[in-house]
Amino acid sequence: MKFFTSLLAAAAITVAGFAAPAVAQEKGMVGISMPTKTSTRWISDGETMEKLFKEAGYTPDLQFADDDIPNQLAQIENMVTKGAKVLVIGAIDGTTLSDILQKAADAGVKVIAYDRLIRDSGNVDYYATFDNFQVGVLQATSLVEGLKLDSATEPKNVELFGGSPDDNNAFFFYDGAMSVLQPLIDSGKIVVKSGQMGMDQVGTLRWDGAVAQARMENLLSSAYTDAKVDGVLSPYDGLSIGIISALKGVGYGSGDMPMPIVTGQDAELPSVKSILAGEQYSTVFKDTRELAKVTVNMVNAIMDGKEPEVNDTKTYENGVKVVPSYLLKPVSVDKSNAKDVLVGSGYYTEDQLNN
Ligand code: BGC
Repeated sequence: MKFFTSLLAAAAITVAGFAAPAVAQEKGMVGISMPTKTSTRWISDGETMEKLFKEAGYTPDLQFADDDIPNQLAQIENMVTKGAKVLVIGAIDGTTLSDILQKAADAGVKVIAYDRLIRDSGNVDYYATFDNFQVGVLQATSLVEGLKLDSATEPKNVELFGGSPDDNNAFFFYDGAMSVLQPLIDSGKIVVKSGQMGMDQVGTLRWDGAVAQARMENLLSSAYTDAKVDGVLSPYDGLSIGIISALKGVGYGSGDMPMPIVTGQDAELPSVKSILAGEQYSTVFKDTRELAKVTVNMVNAIMDGKEPEVNDTKTYENGVKVVPSYLLKPVSVDKSNAKDVLVGSGYYTEDQLNN
């Protein structure tokens, strides 16, 4: 018996000896719920966080929801059931998560809204994002610059596109852009020939490029049979690609029909190449690696029982509370600075841009 006991003790010591470092390192599970893989930015957000969380000693559970709301709800529910300590959520529809977030809160799980604000829930602890209003300001500023409005003698024809109306960001982008464009529309320097303005008319559900392409085709055949479009406010590269395709379809970008000034967002590779080739005019670069870092730092602070660093406690009212936020700075990119900014920061290699 004595021999048996000491054997057991020895086994316990051995197990403890081997297990100790792993246990000390294991900080628990973090659920990372990203909206979709159709846009490369979300893949890079997810993968960067997965890597950083692993390095920091967490067990990340990374899921992409294919832009399908029930799918995202099921994935988050599963994370809570599996015992996640923190959820990092890039919502598809910012208003659909209240019930599952209540369950998460009841289980003591903390929630960080990632890039997109989660609305209508008190159970959102922090928000990590970019200055979304400023994104819109940058888009419109570059549109105005591309149109050379300062020296223009004639009004310029511009059409407006908005992002997905179920994404809180879409309103911030649009409002930011209109803070620059509305005075120019009021003074007659910019004309929206279709008359379509406001997110209810210009929104693009689920940020779908095909929907934007179809709408641009309709605009061209209804409002531009005897006039040319000079510029298009596009809030996201994936929409810009659809818009440019519609424009090319009726002859823009060749002969006496120059490609209109088309904006974008996310510095996605095909759009950066299009910018370098002189088609799309600009995009807005948001360094998703930095957003991932900010988020991992937030989680670390939460898990250490500290207050995460925030730099905005006023802007993001979600219908229930103002969510303390950390806002990163977006950067406007066009042909003149694309390589400096994107290769310089290591976001892309020179080869990626040239091939
Ligand atoms: C993000 C943008 C992105 C868009 C479409 C928004 O919530 O902030 O960066 O272009 O979703 O994925």
